[in-house]
Amino acid sequence: MHIFEILYHEFVGFWGFDQLWEIIQTQNYEALLTQKGIQAFLRPVLPVLLLIEIIRGLFYRRYSHDQYKISVFTYILNRFISSFLSIAMVAFCIGLFEPYALIKTSFTWYWFIYGYVVWELAHFVYHYFGHKVRLFWCLHSTHHAPEYMNLSVTYAHFFLEAPYADIIRTTICILLGVNPPLLFLIMFIDGTWGSFIHIGENLLKDGRLGVLNKIILTPSHHRVHHARNPLYMDTNFCNLLNIWDRAFGTLQDEKTTMEIEYGISRPMKKGDFLDAYFGEIVALGKDVYRAPGLKNKLLYIIMPPGWSHTGDHKTATVVKAHYIREHQQELSFDERV
Ligand SMILES: [Zn+2]
Ligand SMILES: [Zn+2]
Repeated sequence: MHIFEILYHEFVGFWGFDQLWEIIQTQNYEALLTQKGIQAFLRPVLPVLLLIEIIRGLFYRRYSHDQYKISVFTYILNRFISSFLSIAMVAFCIGLFEPYALIKTSFTWYWFIYGYVVWELAHFVYHYFGHKVRLFWCLHSTHHAPEYMNLSVTYAHFFLEAPYADIIRTTICILLGVNPPLLFLIMFIDGTWGSFIHIGENLLKDGRLGVLNKIILTPSHHRVHHARNPLYMDTNFCNLLNIWDRAFGTLQDEKTTMEIEYGISRPMKKGDFLDAYFGEIVALGKDVYRAPGLKNKLLYIIMPPGWSHTGDHKTATVVKAHYIREHQQELSFDERV
């Protein structure tokens, strides 16, 4: 295919208007009431919101090229590799584990609720280990590297993260009996909401969404998740329902008194795409190389980021505990106001 044709298809594909356009051209508006139709309608929402976010940023002179650079480069690279790998992994896990499913479910509303709760658990597991196992953090940290929050961050992922996430999520869901058509519907809803919660302050100043902040996981919660403030680190791992964050004690509301600092705690080269993409792998490689003995080398790979063979740990748990000890008075005052 001609290079311009490829670029044209990529451009059209990014906006996600193709299916909607087909419905309009064939005037088959009834299709909009089907699951496929609703998906066709929702797909362009995120890219359009992203465009509005950039335009608003430009209008209010808050737009900076650096806020989008890393995410855009990552999106382009991933476009060609990761989506293909991820779909293959989902199909592979379904085929492999479906015969061993503990129960059988069907495409009904009550199994949908069951499926969603199971999906959130599976998402929690993948995401939790993405933060707590250094090797998996290498895959997930690219998503946390941007030092701003906007809708483009939803595209910032290391290319091996999607297959890693999908192996864990699909395996858990299939083993717990979520049937594949239900799983695909849940994946679509999860993907759409998972993108929306990256909406930036330029477009939605207060991400709490009113009373919804008490019930579901809102953009505000996900902003907290992307923060490197000690109190906010390693919290809010869920995506839409925050039940598992509640169950495991990792739910953290945004404090009005604490401004969010986005990014990871490792000092990064500002706006450097390669550092955002490969920086954690390089850092892990160096630690493994320098560590004395095979046991320490292995521990660097499986222990949480910040673990040190010298005992001088800088893990999120240690940093947070230290911060809480130092700021006990302010924090208990915050609780009261
Ligand atoms: Zn994360
Ligand atoms: Zn995110």
